[in-house]
Amino acid sequence: MKRFRYLVASALALVAATSALAQEAASASAPQAAVRLYTLDCGLTEFTDAAYFSDTGEYDGKSLALPTPCYLIRHGTEWLLWDTGNSDRLAALPGGVTKFGGRFTMKRTLASQLAELGLKPDDIRFVAMSHLHQDHTGNLGLFPKATVLIAASELNWARGKPTPFGVDATAIAPLVQAHVEASDEDRDVFGDGSVRILKAPGHTPGSRMLLVRLAKTGPVLISGDLFHTRQNYQQTLVPAVNLSRADTLASTQRFSRLAANMHARVVIQHAPEDFASMPAFPKFLD
Ligand SMILES: [Zn+2]
Repeated sequence: MKRFRYLVASALALVAATSALAQEAASASAPQAAVRLYTLDCGLTEFTDAAYFSDTGEYDGKSLALPTPCYLIRHGTEWLLWDTGNSDRLAALPGGVTKFGGRFTMKRTLASQLAELGLKPDDIRFVAMSHLHQDHTGNLGLFPKATVLIAASELNWARGKPTPFGVDATAIAPLVQAHVEASDEDRDVFGDGSVRILKAPGHTPGSRMLLVRLAKTGPVLISGDLFHTRQNYQQTLVPAVNLSRADTLASTQRFSRLAANMHARVVIQHAPEDFASMPAFPKFLD
């Protein structure tokens, strides 16, 4: 009898495990809303001495020009913006602004790029933040109606006094009033696995990367500022400005394993060659 009960229990456990697997497989292959990924130009930063992009000396005395993209995702009829770039006000200053050791310029505004798709800022449902450095938060104030997705640890850190290096307290001030959804977990934004925000701490306490699953392109893994260059990704370099070297290395391992296991297209967010290889706006990946 005891053996019979054991067999029944085992069989039930097997059925449960099989149906869980089937559910997982079904959700992985379930028809998704049409998803598109647009790459927007949200500025450029030129460094004459890029030393702080590695704490082992690779960039000492070298110049570096890093584009700052924003990414816009259409999911069915909904829109998500990943990062808001430099402030649109920068586009009115032809010589740009010099700060944090770099010269920041902007060819065109984020608002004008949204308008090219017939969008107003209020049409954006989600603004998801890779982190709260100033070259990612410049236009947060444009989206008072959006739900801002952000790591709770990032928000607490960025609001600390004195304001941390790289954070613009004025730019993040709208987060106090805005509808913020702060979480320290990975997040499946639309519940169908197509747009996932994943933990990648190290550069800042609540840094995130973005995984987008596209029907034709397949998975696309966007680094946020876990890496600023292809060299940093390929050689596992750690910027001197990162808050935690250990967390950066752990996040690097997660990023690389995910990319390998999913055969994902890797996009290093600030890398000039990755920016150039994306379809020129208003073209998109799908
Ligand atoms: Zn950045």
